[in-house]
Amino acid sequence: MTELRLLRVALPVPLRHSFDYLAPAAWEESAIQPGCRVRVPFGRGRTMIGLILELPKRTEVAPDRLKMALALIDSEPLLSRDQMNLMLRAAAYYQHPLGDALFQSLPGRLRAAQPVPTGFEQRIRVHADSVNQAPALQRAPRQQQALELLAAATDAGLTLATLLEHGITRATVRALADKGLVESFHRDEAPPSPPPVLEAITLNAGQSKAVEAIVSALDRFGVQVLNGVTGSGKTEVYLAVIAEVIRGGRQALVLVPEIGLTPQLVDRVRSRIGPDIAVLHSGLPDTERARSWLAARDGRARVVLGTRSAVWTPLAAAGVIVVDEEHDLSYKQQEGFRYSARDMAVARGQSEGIPVILGSATPSLETLRNVQDGRYGELRLPQRAGGAPAPTVGFIDLRGARLHGAVSARLMDAVRAEVAQGNQVLLFLNRRGYSPTLQCHACGTVAECPRCDMPYTWHKHRNRLLCHHCGSEKPARLQCPSCPDSELQQIGHGTERLAETLAQQLPDARILRIDRDSTRAQGAMGRMVAQIHAGAADILIGTQMLAKGHHFPGLTLVGIIDADRGLFSADFRAAERMAQLFVQVSGRAGRGDRTGQVLIQTHHPDHPFLRSLVEHGYERFAQLALAERDAAKLPPYSHLAVLRAEHHQAGPAQRFLEQARALLEGGDARLQIFGPVPAVLERRRGRFRFQLLIQAGQRARLGRVLPQWLQQLEAEPLAGKVRWSLDVDPQDMI
Ligand code: ADP
Ligand code: ZN
Repeated sequence: MTELRLLRVALPVPLRHSFDYLAPAAWEESAIQPGCRVRVPFGRGRTMIGLILELPKRTEVAPDRLKMALALIDSEPLLSRDQMNLMLRAAAYYQHPLGDALFQSLPGRLRAAQPVPTGFEQRIRVHADSVNQAPALQRAPRQQQALELLAAATDAGLTLATLLEHGITRATVRALADKGLVESFHRDEAPPSPPPVLEAITLNAGQSKAVEAIVSALDRFGVQVLNGVTGSGKTEVYLAVIAEVIRGGRQALVLVPEIGLTPQLVDRVRSRIGPDIAVLHSGLPDTERARSWLAARDGRARVVLGTRSAVWTPLAAAGVIVVDEEHDLSYKQQEGFRYSARDMAVARGQSEGIPVILGSATPSLETLRNVQDGRYGELRLPQRAGGAPAPTVGFIDLRGARLHGAVSARLMDAVRAEVAQGNQVLLFLNRRGYSPTLQCHACGTVAECPRCDMPYTWHKHRNRLLCHHCGSEKPARLQCPSCPDSELQQIGHGTERLAETLAQQLPDARILRIDRDSTRAQGAMGRMVAQIHAGAADILIGTQMLAKGHHFPGLTLVGIIDADRGLFSADFRAAERMAQLFVQVSGRAGRGDRTGQVLIQTHHPDHPFLRSLVEHGYERFAQLALAERDAAKLPPYSHLAVLRAEHHQAGPAQRFLEQARALLEGGDARLQIFGPVPAVLERRRGRFRFQLLIQAGQRARLGRVLPQWLQQLEAEPLAGKVRWSLDVDPQDMI
């Protein structure tokens, strides 16, 4: 009798084990390889796509229960063994089901049974015959902009996706094609890209030293923290290192915190290093993402640039990993597979034996501790590259100050003075909408989301009430439901209201509001950034979207409207986050040849945290904050995991966590357990939320205890009733 051929398959299901199947006799031995996708029966009458993990010799599944796989989808492994090992380790670290983690690392198209797309991608370039005829497109600025972008990309052209990111629409491209100015073609027809040439920028001493330190150790793992103030030329350091890596025939993986920042960086990389960049983020069309992923895996892309999930991109010949703005919260996935792309970049660098660069003007406390302990190296760029002086920072005491809406008279005067001189101003307010609360002055009633018990935010432009916690919305009624002749009053200020105030005070100024609402449309962010660069806006009103990475040379004044929100919070990381945000926002000021000014409005100008930050800078603040964490034995001086549970009723969620606690207490006595306690946001989407905090002095201890505990938890009757999840290294305690 012939031996049974077994397949061990990972499936995208929330179960912490793999599944064994039989391979049909018709499948050729050599075609069955780990890393290939298969279609298998799953549950009653259903089928699923899975990935072959291995070909085991025996199974614990009873022979009569073993099912036959249905189809082999790939003839070549989609993922290499190394790549699968990376996912295996990551899933184990975060205690996440392997199948789900593996499938999350694949581009959407390949999670289904879709065939692997060819490497050929549709691109657009300036038509060869039209290169030297400067066409008159003054009346079509979009077309002009598109043409300029394409001209800069030379013969290699750009993908449609890249153009869309820059705010160019399909219609614009079609119009240019109709005029015979551009043509579309396939990538394989493009001439081979030229070798990387670094533009004539001379690195300063600090930059050269940093580049040398990194390139002298390209053949081994090591983490270097590039700690440089905003505008100090960190990106130039990345580019020089990347060029060297490419010269050595290897690839660079570059992670950025936000989609909004990719177009700028892509342009810079492209102008220095050539066109072979693969871009990966959630804003891309599915096929485009799959193509980028393949270009990375097969080594055609020299630079792979993307947001969080790009950390899982397979690379044919990895040479370096860069994590820009490593402190950024968006590197941590907050649901499902709760990984930190920053931490996984380091883990990946270690397993691949390549250097990792963590860049930031405000490194996270975790990273700074690793520097202190000598695990990471540190390279400093303390000055702005262009020699522009650091901005001056001052407080505006709001106590008793005369106000125009949310803006003090003093800040308003400063805004007026800058705008009068033709400079740009950024007013930072991290709260979108018009007013965060509506309240009846007669009876005190507040318009609240019934599912979260939190006030609705009034969005005046759309005249709707939005719950910022669950996303629900409804038409606004400003009439109090209980008092017939009383109107609800607007309490507090959001970006819409701030923009209105400014428009009243400076009727001639051109005001641009940049938040999640105003940038919702495809390409809107790119268009607004272009508008700012073109000097077509005087006052920018923005949330944290505008705090990151952007370089606006005309900006001379940054006003922080409300510094008080981060000072008093239940989250032990709130101060760190606020400090980072302040420094990042402040870094937008005076990046050209003009000295910048930052004005901070606060009711607490003597708060020790604000003072240390403003008077001595982030570094000093971070030292104080680290000492405090050490004293309180909080991360990075301990390691946390949070078990969260939620349910329509408080009882079951709380009971489930109590049982979880009891199970854990029987185990390792050296773990500290806190809770269960209600979450900061006690009720959300109609569910009551509780959490149990597990703290360990050593990381390894968590790793040893958690797997077995989770197995026990899954067996609890309540586990099937409440919604629960475990978060290892949680980043927010909301
Ligand atoms: P960061 O990434 O640290 O914010 P960038 O690399 O974006 O800084 O540099 C900020 C500005 O300074 C950019 O306009 C860049 O072109 C310029 N710059 C950087 N390094 C140099 C240099 N060595 N000489 C001249 N200009 C530089
Ligand atoms: Zn809600």
